[in-house]
Amino acid sequence: MNKKCKECRQKKDLINFSMYRDSFDRLKYTNICKKCRAKNVRDKRKTEKVLQVYLDKHFDPEEQASDAFKDDPRAAKEVDYGRVVRKPTFVIKGGLID
Ligand SMILES: [Zn+2]
Repeated sequence: MNKKCKECRQKKDLINFSMYRDSFDRLKYTNICKKCRAKNVRDKRKTEKVLQVYLDKHFDPEEQASDAFKDDPRAAKEVDYGRVVRKPTFVIKGGLID
């Protein structure tokens, strides 16, 4: 049985397509052949690497750190003045039918 790859538009044997089961537990074959999939993964990794190099070059590591935007230590000691009044919009009167 042959299947057409959506990437390279070539008819190939089913062996060239990876198999998976969908949510209904049916056997399915991917639309893209193994060769094209491998190529896509390789390209993706390559672009990720280029992007990472770019990011390392252009971004400040101090700013990108996870604790870069911590609150000022003085802010923790601050006391917020003010009163909060909670007023329900619906008042239960006690009757069966309100
Ligand atoms: Zn292909």
